[in-house]
Amino acid sequence: MTAGPTTADERRALSAALVAVAPWTADTEAGPRAVDAGQCDRCGDQPRLLPTCGPVGWRALCRDCALAVDVDGWCEGHLDDAERLLAWAEQLPAWWGDAVVLAWVASGEVAWDATLGVRPDVPAPVRAALPPQRD
Ligand SMILES: [Zn+2]
Ligand SMILES: [Zn+2]
Repeated sequence: MTAGPTTADERRALSAALVAVAPWTADTEAGPRAVDAGQCDRCGDQPRLLPTCGPVGWRALCRDCALAVDVDGWCEGHLDDAERLLAWAEQLPAWWGDAVVLAWVASGEVAWDATLGVRPDVPAPVRAALPPQRD
């Protein structure tokens, strides 16, 4: 059983690796720094990515749900923001969910879970900051 990135140094290294390949993980408008750590309010399945602003009952959505709800997740006053955020979310890499969860591990918001299956397309510098993956 390998220890995860749990010490402050290990978490700092993970954070640095993440921000280097995915600077958006440090963004405070959208992404892991913009929402409370946890699963999407709508599907309860994927990590939260985008905060919404009112018209819907969900406060934060994963990418798939945000794209499904579309601009209805935001009020008319935030239509421009919504369109920009949705376009941004759409172009994120397929490993966006791992990036979000790992950003929360790096900040200490969620504990490292040794069973967390990290996608094979997570970039090498980020994988290097993680314990060896079990097959
Ligand atoms: Zn969702
Ligand atoms: Zn709004």
